[in-house]
Amino acid sequence: MALIVQKYGGTSVGSVERIQAVAQRVYKTVKAGNSLVVVVSAMGKTTDGLVKLANEISPNPNRREMDMLLSTGEQVTIALLSMALQELGQPAISMTGAQVGIVTEAEHSRARILHIETTRLTRHINAGKVVVVAGFQGTSSAGEMEITTLGRGGSDTSAVAIAAALQANFCEIYTDVPGILTTDPRLVAEAQLMDDITCDEMLELASLGAKVLHPRAVEIARNYGVPLVVRSSWTDAPGTWVTSAKPQGRSLINLEIARPVDAVEFDTDQAKVALLRVPDKPGVAARLFGEISRQEVDVDLIIQSVHEGNSNDIAFTVTAPILKRAEAVAAAIAPALRSESNPKSDEAEVMVEHNIAKVSIAGAGMIGRPGVAAKMFATLAEAGVNIQMISTSEVKVSCVVNATECDRAVNALRSAFEIEAGEAKRDEGDEEAGGDEGVGRDKLILLSPSSPSSPSSPHHPPVRGVALDLNQARLAIRQLPDRPGMAAKLFGLLAQHNISVDMIIQSQRCRVIDGVPRRDIAFTVSRIDGESAKKMLTQVAAELGWGEVVLDSAIAKVSIVGAGMVGQPGVAAKMFGALAEHQINIQMIATSEIKISCVVAQEQGVKALQVIHAAFGLAGSEKFVVPA
Ligand code: ASP
Ligand code: MG
Repeated sequence: MALIVQKYGGTSVGSVERIQAVAQRVYKTVKAGNSLVVVVSAMGKTTDGLVKLANEISPNPNRREMDMLLSTGEQVTIALLSMALQELGQPAISMTGAQVGIVTEAEHSRARILHIETTRLTRHINAGKVVVVAGFQGTSSAGEMEITTLGRGGSDTSAVAIAAALQANFCEIYTDVPGILTTDPRLVAEAQLMDDITCDEMLELASLGAKVLHPRAVEIARNYGVPLVVRSSWTDAPGTWVTSAKPQGRSLINLEIARPVDAVEFDTDQAKVALLRVPDKPGVAARLFGEISRQEVDVDLIIQSVHEGNSNDIAFTVTAPILKRAEAVAAAIAPALRSESNPKSDEAEVMVEHNIAKVSIAGAGMIGRPGVAAKMFATLAEAGVNIQMISTSEVKVSCVVNATECDRAVNALRSAFEIEAGEAKRDEGDEEAGGDEGVGRDKLILLSPSSPSSPSSPHHPPVRGVALDLNQARLAIRQLPDRPGMAAKLFGLLAQHNISVDMIIQSQRCRVIDGVPRRDIAFTVSRIDGESAKKMLTQVAAELGWGEVVLDSAIAKVSIVGAGMVGQPGVAAKMFGALAEHQINIQMIATSEIKISCVVAQEQGVKALQVIHAAFGLAGSEKFVVPA
């Protein structure tokens, strides 16, 4: 007998018939010998309707009153579903978030869960009842009993948090799609359903999967090791399991706000190769990494960014023992990248750095929280550590620093992010290279008996999913002085203005202007923040003597994600090769262990997504039919 939390989304409970169908499924699950808590959304498009009503009265409705209004949607569903269950002879009781004791921050319209009382839930479960809980809502703790909501799509988060609090065997998310697909089926008809995916992969695919599964729900599942499955409520198909590593007995207090960063990782066995001033045209990265993969050289971080004069710097890190081979490849390719008219120019200079270390912070909690990267940079600055290279992904920020400063950097970061010494781990990604599991740091332990196979099993391709984000803008700041504290200053300012930064890339080339060595830094933000960020930074740049601030809003970010790419040479080369073959220029590259992201021109975004999806053999023969 298992304790299961099921969550049904809006369309799954969109009509009386659908609610009755859900009741049947719940009833069947109970009859099979399980105990159940059911979390529901508002019926159909109810929440949208309520938002519209509010907007007819006020263009800018009070957030407290909005929560009061929107929380009513879910209350309708819990009562109706309980009645439907009772009609079937199944004892059931409906409960609001407040009745359960889902305690949140007092932040209306975007509250995070602090903790969940389990006594009432447990009492009803033990009495043989199905407890039907209103998703998306909670109550503030400050004695005021204010009704709060978790933000749109928040019922997934309610469900997984309840599963974590009850230590349920697993959590099922029922929706109107069959599970998680390899990419967006509206853009790529050949998108395929995945049997399973890890939470880490899912989080890195946030821009792809957010509509199916609230990223905060994935974050909780990962932090507490809740086995999670996304399935269709229309069929009995198994859906997609979202799996996580064995949890480390984390406290259930401050459930969603405990720590934005849960690990500090480092790797001192790294070396860096940079190719400076290569032409900004399609095919350059493909050529370089194609040759590198033919030599079986496994690269770790890769960054590329455009700079003054429209030339690129590409830099990558490798483990120290293979540096010689990597350097040889870069040196062999460099002459071919110089312009024929001016072969003696300073184009395509190869630069090698031996004594470097990679220091990373990782944690699902950094998603959507401006200031985490800034805090890392500020911490390094205070410790007097200069950052040579920055590469970011959704859930990780990695900095390349001088190897002699690694210990200092790690200690400072540990204390800044309150990570205990034992928790800072040596990044073993590269040591796993060639191992038969293909998965780096996290050993995956599946907690769910019905989950078909481990994501690290050999039949899994190195790339699981491909995501396209058309809602970003790119900013570049020229000639930032190259000394500790500059990145901290820049990203601290953005955080103060509540602007979340996604990719960050610091240039490799260094120019001395007015006696000060300077580098460019480029990053992406949400498109809606682009103009205001530019305005703010232009003013700051003038005051501080930084160079020009450049904004490009017509960009697209395309990313590949897969735990299996660790220790697998050639994955980046394949991605860059697919883009080159279709004459798509790469403007920016940033990577983490399990993700590679490229920025391309916006009008080429969809094409880029399609060719990359096909290049990794993710396309299936069946066309996926997008539900209406
Ligand atoms: N009803 C809320 C919304 O539409 C919460 C949810 O369905 O997850 O956003
Ligand atoms: Mg949803």
